[in-house]
Amino acid sequence: MLPRRAQELPPTAGLPLRWTDLLPGAATLASDLAVQLGTPPLQLECSGTACLLIALATLRELQPQRRYVVVPAYTCPLVAIAVRQAGLELQLCDLTAGHYDMDPVALRAACDERTLAIIPTHLAGRVADVGDALDVARKVGAYVIEDAAQALGARRGGVSVGLAGDIGFFSLAAGKGLSIYEGGLLLAHDPALRARLTETAARIVPRRYGWECRRSIELLGYAALYRPRGLRQAYGKPLRRHLRQGDPVAAVGDEFALTIPLHRVGRWRQAVGAHAATRLPNFLEQLTRQAQRRLPRLHRINGVKVMQDPTGAEGTWPFLLLLLPDQACRDRALEQLWQSGFGVSRLFIHALPDYVYLADIVPQQDVPHARDLASRSLSISNSPWMTDDDFEMICRTLQAMPG
Ligand SMILES: *Cc1c(COP(=O)(O)O)cnc(C)c1O
Repeated sequence: MLPRRAQELPPTAGLPLRWTDLLPGAATLASDLAVQLGTPPLQLECSGTACLLIALATLRELQPQRRYVVVPAYTCPLVAIAVRQAGLELQLCDLTAGHYDMDPVALRAACDERTLAIIPTHLAGRVADVGDALDVARKVGAYVIEDAAQALGARRGGVSVGLAGDIGFFSLAAGKGLSIYEGGLLLAHDPALRARLTETAARIVPRRYGWECRRSIELLGYAALYRPRGLRQAYGKPLRRHLRQGDPVAAVGDEFALTIPLHRVGRWRQAVGAHAATRLPNFLEQLTRQAQRRLPRLHRINGVKVMQDPTGAEGTWPFLLLLLPDQACRDRALEQLWQSGFGVSRLFIHALPDYVYLADIVPQQDVPHARDLASRSLSISNSPWMTDDDFEMICRTLQAMPG
């Protein structure tokens, strides 16, 4: 294993909070971000998953006879949990080989007149093929929900992701960029659908003082520990403990409760987010410059493929998602890097059918390309705290893996 880095790097580039962010202020997070991103009004909810749940509940009312939601077979387990909590059924779609997008042929096979929604996913900040999902959706009469949980700030043709489909959502969870510890934003280009999303939330999302109190304390902890000196305690130690116990699912935080809470976001957390959001455009630009500078170095490593955006799209760069030639090679690299504090990790551990704890809600299905992505990929943090020397050290380690 590499010698442990003196200070732990986070696996993704979150926007660090400042103490002054915690002072009271105007609760304008959603409206400020809408101006910043150039979107119609954004709807703030208590998590990205809550956004998806509200979206699904809304669409279900519009098309009550449709029960299936088509998702990429390699995505966040919370997506499966939201589908189930909405009282709907998952339909998995395998990926294109060696890519995060759903395979166009598999997608057409997965969709029919029972399909309520298709969820193209902007994984790792990369911009997904929403056009193909729309094409299929229009043919079978389904909706498209863009999962942009990992892609706040990403654009295609100069327009924010989340607006090409019928509904989109961003996550404000810890570790996903701008964070109020847990939060999410819903968007939709059609005003009538936006009004319906607001109505659904007004009906099903209660005020729950206990949850908001808990999230506020967690946000304080996040503000205190999301910095080079605090991350060992908050991230590194639990990571290494879980890996020692042979539990990678817990190590990357893939294990979630099967019921997600719904509650309104309080004014203080909104104000904290609004303060931090003023720094978001510069922060995202800094991350893009850093990623663009580092990508050529990765391309020079034999056998390594880095996920990139399609032409005309400008994603965000919370981390770099890499594919290695095979699982043995990826695992050898992780043996060196995962526990060393350099911000190297894995995205989701499994394809959805392979999480034991999801067995009751995910259909067993052969999804070879999703499994392949899970077995060959690793992530390199794009945190500004990662120095060029750190990055070079990671590249040399990857280079030393015989492909
Ligand atoms: C994190 C994530 C979600 C859920 O967002 P939360 O804010 O954590 O509830 C959904 N989809 C993807 C792809 C994610 O990464």
